[in-house]
Amino acid sequence: MSTAKFNQFLNQLSEYPLRVIDSKFSYDRYAPLVISDKNIDLSNFDIYSSLEWEKYINLFLEDKNAKIAFGGYLEKRNIYDRSKYFKCLAENKRRNIHLGIDFWCKEGTKVLAVLDGEIHSFKNNNHYGDYGPTIILKHKIKEEVFYTLYGHLSLLSIENLKVGDFILKGSVIGYLGNSLINGDYAPHLHFQIIKDLENNYGDYPGVSSEENIEFYSRNCPNPNLLLKLPI
Ligand SMILES: [Zn+2]
Repeated sequence: MSTAKFNQFLNQLSEYPLRVIDSKFSYDRYAPLVISDKNIDLSNFDIYSSLEWEKYINLFLEDKNAKIAFGGYLEKRNIYDRSKYFKCLAENKRRNIHLGIDFWCKEGTKVLAVLDGEIHSFKNNNHYGDYGPTIILKHKIKEEVFYTLYGHLSLLSIENLKVGDFILKGSVIGYLGNSLINGDYAPHLHFQIIKDLENNYGDYPGVSSEENIEFYSRNCPNPNLLLKLPI
């Protein structure tokens, strides 16, 4: 299926927004947040500190009278420069383009399965700056197979899981972890759609270099085709 057709297929899976964060928060409590150098607020604090981030997010939410800050698909970010996990010497190989949508909200917030699926894999990706506990669901709808990834969860979220378990759309699959476990970030969910998982297990790149962005932007469609957030 071509990229355009697949994106259309995803978009048409539901006429209503599909939820990945506790559905008690309606979309009018969501506020879009930019994490590129276009956001001048980011020059006012140490963006390498998860604690400073947490303070910034809390103030941002208060200011917007919101509960969840979200955004980031194909956003170019400087924050990844802090970890060697994302680094590469050549400028165009530096991984800094974000492939999912992030949802910044409180530790312990419920994370929901976006669609019916089965547990493909799960893992604690515990590099500095990585996802921490991560779950990947496999979806098969009208003969199309694709995956959704939920990163930066709590440790509890990946206990007692079994590969192959069926998960119902909208059911709780985990909870947001804190900076001690989630790769050292302010609490947030990283949500990403993946067409070809390329033999990965419990993990898949969530950030691309400019050099590889053509492939990754095709392989990881905009999650908003499913979520239908007001952007
Ligand atoms: Zn992310």
